[in-house]
Amino acid sequence: MADAIQKIRKRIGKRLLEKKEDLIPYMKDSSYYEGNIPRAVAIASSREEIADIMKICYESKTSVVMRSGGSALTGSPVPYTDSVVISMSAMNKILEAHVEDGYVVTEPGVRLDDLNAYLNKLGFFYPPDPASSTAATVGGSISTNAGGLRACTYGTTKEWVLGLEIVLPNGKIVEVGGRTLKRTKGYDITALMVGNEGTLAVITKAYLKVWPIPEEIGRILAYFKDSENMGKSISNLKGKGIIPYIAEFMDRLSLDAIKKAKNIDSPEGSNFLLMIDIASTHESIGRKLDEAKKIIEEQNPINIKITRDKDEMRIMYEARKGLYSSSLGIRDSKDEYIEIGDVVVPPSELPSSLKEIEGSMKNFRIKALLFGHIGDGNIHANIMVDLKDNGYRERVEKFQMELGKIALKHGGSVSAEHGIGLEKKELLLEELKERGSMEVLTLMKGIKKDFDPDGILNRGKIFD
Ligand SMILES: Cc1cc2nc3c(=O)[nH]c(=O)nc-3n(C[C@H](O)[C@H](O)[C@H](O)COP(=O)(O)OP(=O)(O)OC[C@H]3O[C@@H](n4cnc5c(N)ncnc54)[C@H](O)[C@@H]3O)c2cc1C
Repeated sequence: MADAIQKIRKRIGKRLLEKKEDLIPYMKDSSYYEGNIPRAVAIASSREEIADIMKICYESKTSVVMRSGGSALTGSPVPYTDSVVISMSAMNKILEAHVEDGYVVTEPGVRLDDLNAYLNKLGFFYPPDPASSTAATVGGSISTNAGGLRACTYGTTKEWVLGLEIVLPNGKIVEVGGRTLKRTKGYDITALMVGNEGTLAVITKAYLKVWPIPEEIGRILAYFKDSENMGKSISNLKGKGIIPYIAEFMDRLSLDAIKKAKNIDSPEGSNFLLMIDIASTHESIGRKLDEAKKIIEEQNPINIKITRDKDEMRIMYEARKGLYSSSLGIRDSKDEYIEIGDVVVPPSELPSSLKEIEGSMKNFRIKALLFGHIGDGNIHANIMVDLKDNGYRERVEKFQMELGKIALKHGGSVSAEHGIGLEKKELLLEELKERGSMEVLTLMKGIKKDFDPDGILNRGKIFD
């Protein structure tokens, strides 16, 4: 390892961080995991540098972990063994924009909000929109197949990646996919790069599909007493062919958190907020919103309103995206940290799944905020974990397992959009077993071995 580090130092000079105080931030991501302190962090500035670093690490069998925004919630960019970290923070340029052909080319370290600020000026946007978009980057979100608020119409990141330039563990640079919407060229290696959590190769450039900004967006805010009525509302909307631009929900505790943090009120007696955005043309937006409102009204919300006021819409959107920080404000003590549950079910299974999750929270005496991307059946739980209470930690683990099992029972998955990382390795096995598909694990291990025979990339993530 020392020899490899010396060679990397020679290659990139001062951009190799080696002092303890510089390395500490790279031990963690945005989850509760704390990994090993890395041996060194290489702030890479080009694909050639990354190729040379990978070659050095490949030859010396040095473990490497990729890191971009560090906003992952499963420990995926946390060094699990003695490792060198490669940071993509300096590779943050938008290289080309070809909106007339429907794509952009970027470096992997571009933050999603920066990409959208740039595209918005051209009348376009990049649809994947994780709530962490101020920090999350192109490379990190591809590696975790991030979803986010707009997934119910636009799908997850995998729908938006046309091609990639990647550096293989042995240091060779290759391109997969490319600039065109269509291409059939044997196995789809681009798809394999989406969601592999930096275990197969390093992404150094991305060809991303972009989309025109909708003409008009309007919002319905509907408050419910009961999760079942809220869940039925979204199923009924989708069943009638109304696919919301976004469809989010927040429970009572989430509403309390945003009241405290942002002073946003909710009607008395309401336990759930359903926030639906509809996108359409100037001419038809009013009619579409009215149609959707009528369908939701059949489920007897306590209160329902339509708004097209841009400021009001922005404030609530930011409150929803900032729910993690607002949750910190309603902890019982500063010794509590937040662990995030992330499961998905087919949307029509939401009403019964939510009821079972609420029941399980009571059983395990768990304090958690329930919220999520209800339009695609994605339920999150911000679980408060009291660090001082060992028994509580154990109950949270059981609850997380139960959450996964509820999702599986309803035909869903143990991980919707945050990935597997270190956190969900056991749950992944649970899902494969439940589906009688343990052979998939053998296939995944075979793919890993083909890309990375010595297992130097992101050791210990997804599976052991
Ligand atoms: C408050 C909050 C809200 C969130 N909301 C959402 C949400 O709504 N939807 C959602 O999907 N996720 C959400 N997340 C999770 C997280 O933001 C996403 O997983 C994000 O896509 C990670 O991007 P990143 O740039 O921070 O990657 P990192 O955290 O740096 O890395 C993530 C993974 O990608 C790998 N990686 C990074 N860069 C590269 C590269 N260039 N090549 C190869 N591998 C690489 C890393 O090794 C790691 O395995 C949220 C997180 C937080 C903290």
